[in-house]
Amino acid sequence: MPGFELFGAAERKEVNDVLESGVLMRYGFDGMRNGHWKARELEQEMEKRFDVKHAQLTSSGTSALNVALAILGVGAGDEVIMPTFTFVASFESILAAGATPILVDIDDTLTLDPKAVEAAITPKTKVVMPVHMCGAMADLAPLQEICERYNLFLLEDACQAFAGTYHGKALGTIGHAGCFSFDYVKTITCGEGGAVVTNDDVLGNHADHYSDHGHTHIGNDRGAEEHPFIGYNFRISELNAAVGLAQIRRTDEFLAIQRKNKKILKDALATIPEVSFRRLPDEAGDTATFLSFFMPTYALSQKVVQAFKKYGIDAYWNYFDNNWHYVRKWHHLTKVRSLFPLSKEIRDGLQDLTKISFQASDEWIGRNISCLIKLSWTEEEVQTRAQKMVAAIQSVLADG
Ligand SMILES: *Cc1c(COP(=O)(O)O)cnc(C)c1O
Repeated sequence: MPGFELFGAAERKEVNDVLESGVLMRYGFDGMRNGHWKARELEQEMEKRFDVKHAQLTSSGTSALNVALAILGVGAGDEVIMPTFTFVASFESILAAGATPILVDIDDTLTLDPKAVEAAITPKTKVVMPVHMCGAMADLAPLQEICERYNLFLLEDACQAFAGTYHGKALGTIGHAGCFSFDYVKTITCGEGGAVVTNDDVLGNHADHYSDHGHTHIGNDRGAEEHPFIGYNFRISELNAAVGLAQIRRTDEFLAIQRKNKKILKDALATIPEVSFRRLPDEAGDTATFLSFFMPTYALSQKVVQAFKKYGIDAYWNYFDNNWHYVRKWHHLTKVRSLFPLSKEIRDGLQDLTKISFQASDEWIGRNISCLIKLSWTEEEVQTRAQKMVAAIQSVLADG
């Protein structure tokens, strides 16, 4: 999956352009920068590639979520519906906005279950935030329908699904806003970075201003710019953007390798009747960064994890007891451990996660194993890996 696996001459060239001018900031210093505007160019490449009107780079995927929630007007007293299976950045960004995260179950797509979303809606709900986990899409059509019916915003966290699509449209561009991450382990990387995309002119404009202290970016005297509303600093540096600019141009190369490698592994596992696969609402739009499959029971998936170890297979996860991605180990959220006082709205509004059990999520996550698809494998390595995975799973099934 990660773009860092294929870091090379193209990335070095873009970074060198920036180093040679010495302008490490994305705004201003027009005369010194030798015509290099890496952040702006990367935004334009995203707009073109995703057919979306506005792309705004940020310092991380987490700050992209912060910006997205801010431009959607999310704040004190608002509820944001998010899945139990995601990265901790989901609830971090909601809390940072002063809003209340409401966790709901996932289904066999490993993303938001639309029925669970509808059941969680209250008069305070403002946003539904599906997370396109492990390289593939949530089922967006029913979520969109719910958002329209209840007049809610749809905010796509596409941090793990850069360049994925849903019925021909880029993930991240289908909701009112979408977010990407370019951290070091994502499909393409800037080192650290992120982006917000939207087709709404007002939201796009607000994202531009909000991520840079409210600066309007009109004219060429930063000190004289207006600030129509309060902003923050979520800017990406020009150096980081330069890496991303080289990487975005390699997206199709990366996806082709992933899809080829994934197909070999999936075809091999499909020969085992007890193995089933994550439901993909639109298989053609899968970025193939992961192969996610289910064993018939939690006990069997745990045995497969052990067998994979024994057979020397690396880079796979069962997320049931994962610290970062699944609700069961988010003790800091469950116990509401904040360094500073949280508002009354949040304290009153938070679910008591010590009392709620997410049975459907436990079922899907417990039975799931997700295998990373690497860019650097040779075809022979993938073939050997496929044979070992099949042998490992069959050894578990033979044991009963
Ligand atoms: C990586 C990730 C983020 C946050 O991105 P950073 O750039 O690491 O801040 C948010 N959501 C999901 C689903 C992620 O995987």
